[in-house]
Amino acid sequence: MLNIEKEGIILSDISDLFLGPITKYEPIYTGEKTDCLVIHKGKIEAIGETSRLLAEYTRQDYEIIHCNKKTVCPGFVDSHTHLVFAGDRSHELTLKIQGNSYQEIAQKGGGIMFSVKKTREASKEELIQLGLTRLDKMLLHGTTTVEAKSGYGLNPDAEIKILEVINELNEKHPIDIIPTFLGCHIMPEDFVGNQWEYIESMMQLLPIIKNRNLAEFVDIWTDLGAFTTEESKVFLEESEKQGFKLRVHADEMDNVGAALMAAEMKAASADHLLKAEAVSARSMADAGVVANLLPGTPFVLMSKHYANYQMFKDAGVTVALSTDFNPNCYILDMQTIVGLGCFMMKMLPEEALEAATYGGAVSLNRENEIGLLDLEMKADLLILDAPNIDSIPYQFGTNHVNTVIKSGKIIVKNGEKSE
Ligand code: ZN
Repeated sequence: MLNIEKEGIILSDISDLFLGPITKYEPIYTGEKTDCLVIHKGKIEAIGETSRLLAEYTRQDYEIIHCNKKTVCPGFVDSHTHLVFAGDRSHELTLKIQGNSYQEIAQKGGGIMFSVKKTREASKEELIQLGLTRLDKMLLHGTTTVEAKSGYGLNPDAEIKILEVINELNEKHPIDIIPTFLGCHIMPEDFVGNQWEYIESMMQLLPIIKNRNLAEFVDIWTDLGAFTTEESKVFLEESEKQGFKLRVHADEMDNVGAALMAAEMKAASADHLLKAEAVSARSMADAGVVANLLPGTPFVLMSKHYANYQMFKDAGVTVALSTDFNPNCYILDMQTIVGLGCFMMKMLPEEALEAATYGGAVSLNRENEIGLLDLEMKADLLILDAPNIDSIPYQFGTNHVNTVIKSGKIIVKNGEKSE
């Protein structure tokens, strides 16, 4: 049991400690092992060798957790999710396997407009319950920060309702949630008018969202069959003027220049990028745009075409990995995404783990707080039942999370929520 009177927590004898790209901690002496972390007042206070740190800290004031045969790493930062929607689409899987196209499924009443219809009909309370259940599963799988987009309302009232739900979920659940307005997800089939009128109707929401502080970022899907780069630029420029930070669903279906536009607009992240080319990657590197890669999406679409990780790495782009949790890609577990990053995109285990933690934090402008285990960083971290970080993807399809520490407090213990 957690003893609340204790000063802090010492994680000792860690079998594999993954710190991420730290800059502050330096070993006290040459050859010092890093197998111990000290957490105090919600932050990381010391890093180093178990024997030295146990001698330095008064043991009775600290809860000591022995982590032999265990890996410790930062909590996962899932920086691209569509957390809030109603309308389960499990019945579409059989149709997909039988070879029905996206259009054929939509004609049978499925697809994104099915989710939109159900989300519009759902009460806030229903959406909050769905959200809490999903967040609990994310937490048990090691996610400690999540970005959550609107975009399954696609009319003013329903988009605001979803953003309100996201903000209430942030109050109710220990996972930190960063809200994004994605009113321009796709053009809803039932909108009467043209594409520009729809974009304008979404731009009219921007001051309301800003005044009520309902979202930090805006996002738009810039792609074949979604919004053009010209339309997207108008929307993003207005959003930026009103104080929002920018994200872009970019070049998933075709290379329409969305990643280049994201670089020009200095967006925080360009996401998907299945069809992006090297010139876009170089522009993104120059502009500091994170490449947010989502290997769950091609996996559920039964595609063999994944984002070109090596191209982004060679260009010097910071890469993030995220779930893209949505009704067509029902994955809440970042460990599986790390596995897909390794097996389908040839990321090294440590590269995939860094992308799933630090990369996500950079894309959310939170790299000074979370995503790496450096001195004075927030103590959001995981103890995994895995002897080393390679085992996270190697032992594929298993939840390795034993303990989740959030802001210095143990909130998952032995794989269960500890409240
Ligand atoms: Zn998405």
